[in-house]
Amino acid sequence: MTQDAHGGSGSRNHYENVPCPFCGILCDDIEIGPTADGLKVLKNGCAKSISGFERRVPAASPQIAGRDVPLAEAIREAARLLKASRLPLFTGLGTDVAGMQAVLAAADKAGGVVDHALSDSSYRNYRVLQSSGWVMTTLTEARNRADLFIIVATDLTKLHPRFFERIVCNDKSMFSDVPPKRTVVLLGDGLDASAVAGARIGEVVTLPVKADRIGEVIDALRAMSKGFTPSGDDIGGLTRASVEDLLARCKAANYGVIAWSPSSLAFPSADLTVQAICEFVKEINATSRFAGLPLGGSEASTTAGAVCAWQTGFPLRVSFASGKIQYDVDRYAASSMVTSKESDLIIWIATFAADFTPPDTDTPLILIATPGVKTARTPAVSIPVGTPGVDHTGSVMRVDSSVTLPLRKVRQSSLPSAADVVAQIEAAL
Ligand code: SF4
Repeated sequence: MTQDAHGGSGSRNHYENVPCPFCGILCDDIEIGPTADGLKVLKNGCAKSISGFERRVPAASPQIAGRDVPLAEAIREAARLLKASRLPLFTGLGTDVAGMQAVLAAADKAGGVVDHALSDSSYRNYRVLQSSGWVMTTLTEARNRADLFIIVATDLTKLHPRFFERIVCNDKSMFSDVPPKRTVVLLGDGLDASAVAGARIGEVVTLPVKADRIGEVIDALRAMSKGFTPSGDDIGGLTRASVEDLLARCKAANYGVIAWSPSSLAFPSADLTVQAICEFVKEINATSRFAGLPLGGSEASTTAGAVCAWQTGFPLRVSFASGKIQYDVDRYAASSMVTSKESDLIIWIATFAADFTPPDTDTPLILIATPGVKTARTPAVSIPVGTPGVDHTGSVMRVDSSVTLPLRKVRQSSLPSAADVVAQIEAAL
């Protein structure tokens, strides 16, 4: 048995305690072994991690307009396109900390805009953090202390397949081998409760509410907690009695946690629902201990937001076009820049999932991605790169923004990292 530089252990080509980079909760207990032509998840995998680690990566070469070329030539052509671009857009941004740092340096030099492709979802949270603040917990705190979990609108069995196993249904906590039982409330429509099971689980309460009416329920909880009585018996589709019961559970909890993914709140002005949750959490803290727990973080969107904030002071949607950092939540949103064709060159980075594909647009594209990412049109330049945590080491931020986890290399690969490729492009500018 050996221990590698990133603290994991395993014998040659057999790895234990491997961090999984394929969703934001970054489980760090995966066991992986080799097969004749790839990797096999031996223990603690989920459907998402198995499809990530075990995916057969097709052979791929750097290309210019669909023609195979040496890497150095593709780098030169990417730099030429960037120099000629009026306003390049660096997006996708499914990459690790080093990749994001390289992107920011290249965007600074090229006068580009930087935004993660999933930031429309992240901004439902960021807007609340920026305008009124919040009280948040971490995965570790929630796992060890919470006696009440309220899951809002989010189907965690799909988004984070091991969330319940790792954070909610754990038999032991840091403080007790026989911790008290937990209540889990699923507040939303069609949420799968099948994974909420085991000795740790006391009650499972299902409250079916459409996502765009959850704000009504939370606002009623806030009003009731202040002593007001909302009119009518229909509160967001729930009966008054069930909302009163939920409030009583919140007040009785020693440590309550409300968890949601902003990607599950995909309706207009959904940030107001996030704000209602965060304000309720603040208020209930006057009499009980309570915290929020943001989930999601797909395609390293938490990492992208964090690195951008560390280096520019702003969480994405920044432009370097004027020679200094400019921040505009609406103007520099990647989704609207692609639609309006404000950018004349898209640099799409996707190092994790092969289905994280760039938008179908006739704007020229530089693709820096794991082999297998499909495009609707032939990219002007395509450079295959490795996956952090599989083909090379790296680090990514966990979805609760509390730790940056080191990732390991578990596959022999000659693919360069996105950080290396982007740094070479920047050097050629
Ligand atoms: S739940 Fe997420 S981090 Fe954990 S093994 Fe599955 S994909 Fe990986």
